Amino acid sequence: MAIEAFPALHEANDRVALIDGESSWSYRELNARIDRCAAGLLNGKNDLHEERVAVFAPAGLDYVTALHGVWRAGGIAVPLNVGATAPEIEYYFRKAGVTRVIASRQQLVATDPVCRRLGVELLEVNDLLGASRQQQPLPAVERSRPAMIVYTSGTTSKPKGAVITHKAIHTQVITLIKAWRWTRKDSIPLFLPLHHLHGIINVLSCALWCGATVHASPKLDVARLCEQAGSGAFSVFMAVPTVYVKLIEHIESLAAPQRKAVCRGFGRMRLNVSGSAACPVRVFERWKQLTGQTLLERYGATETGMTISNPYDGERRAGFVGQVLPGVRAQLFDDNHRPVRNDATPGEIRIRSDGVFQGYWDDERASRASFHDGWFRTGDIAVVEDGYYRILGRSSIDIIKSGGYKLSALEIEGVLLDHEAIGEAAVIGLPDDTWGEVVAAAVTLKDGASLDLAGLKHWCAGRMSAYKIPKRLKVLNDLPRNAMGKVVKPALRDLL
Ligand code: AMP
Repeated sequence: MAIEAFPALHEANDRVALIDGESSWSYRELNARIDRCAAGLLNGKNDLHEERVAVFAPAGLDYVTALHGVWRAGGIAVPLNVGATAPEIEYYFRKAGVTRVIASRQQLVATDPVCRRLGVELLEVNDLLGASRQQQPLPAVERSRPAMIVYTSGTTSKPKGAVITHKAIHTQVITLIKAWRWTRKDSIPLFLPLHHLHGIINVLSCALWCGATVHASPKLDVARLCEQAGSGAFSVFMAVPTVYVKLIEHIESLAAPQRKAVCRGFGRMRLNVSGSAACPVRVFERWKQLTGQTLLERYGATETGMTISNPYDGERRAGFVGQVLPGVRAQLFDDNHRPVRNDATPGEIRIRSDGVFQGYWDDERASRASFHDGWFRTGDIAVVEDGYYRILGRSSIDIIKSGGYKLSALEIEGVLLDHEAIGEAAVIGLPDDTWGEVVAAAVTLKDGASLDLAGLKHWCAGRMSAYKIPKRLKVLNDLPRNAMGKVVKPALRDLL
């Protein structure tokens, strides 16, 4: 028998589901609001029949109400980046054929001109709650139907809309609840952007599925997060590596008593997870030194949900994303689509599971190209050591082909981060007549530090093979990053 979706929401008890600012909302209250929002959206119809409704709000009550309201009414939710500019919003609206958008008050101004131009109806959650009819029956939405269109982060190409069904969401959530031992006693902060699966599935949906408490903040406030962690507000913490870097910087700047309290707060949690980009070994180790927590690094993508994870119990290896999650099949393939039989040989990770997306919205060509023989092609190159996957990078951008060698940008970045002057590092290949591509590094420096190419080459000698040593260097104030904190490497190409 199929498991009921979001059982804790339907159970609707008085446990706290969501804390948003000074207000808190029980599962009962949240569930009732979602029903009213769905009824308001339906407005007398029996089903939205997959109408695309954009959700444009930061983490908080409005976002949760709108997302679940669209799902319950039979619509397809299109969650947008709250920092999106007018041209970006227009791109998403046009591509996904959005007809209505539910925006929070702060987002109204940015959306209004685009809505007028495209004839998209602009709504606030409160309008929908007020308009809802008392006895509006809600449709029974089949699990095979699409639930949302999530735009890929677009670090390598223009964002594509991944269509994710209710069934895929359920599979992904249940897999993570089991793997990471979620319970209703858990409590987690939510500050990640809610247009990517990390925030939507790993944090928000896992918590609301099992009856835990979500502390929502519209944006990352490191100082407040540390205070809350220090006071024991959370049992689980999930973030991208750049957030851990910011937390480490903040914690190191605190006076001894506060520092101790914050570190103890993180140390007492049952789980700290890192993912969405490679966690530098330096960050993994420093976090452990400070808090005593061994970060659990995991790997996944918009199209697949989480697929590989270090274990909850057992060894968590720095620099590795772990083992294949239960219910997921992963296999490395070579350039000729043949399975790689020797784990030490790099290959592209391909995935099969019920959590995999349906295809890209309105993009038959890209959808077809992203599968081969039923396997989803992640585009990520990895090796496996004792069952643990190590990501070498994206085949299109992180695998540098230089002088007959295939180099991993992530591996070189990991070494550069050990340099005492370097704060952040991103490595790419640049076209070169002699070598095919040459290794080029863009770095940010620590306060007061300096670095030139000759000095960097000298330092690298002996730490990495000669052909991996960067031949170009660019020192930047900041690396170009997207909303998720991932480095946008195509932008670096222009800078270098
Ligand atoms: P997105 O679809 O935006 O979530 O991006 C997915 C991509 O992020 C993957 O295909 C990987 O390239 C990268 N990624 C996710 N998690 C990790 C990780 N733990 N280590 C390295 N790369 C990762």
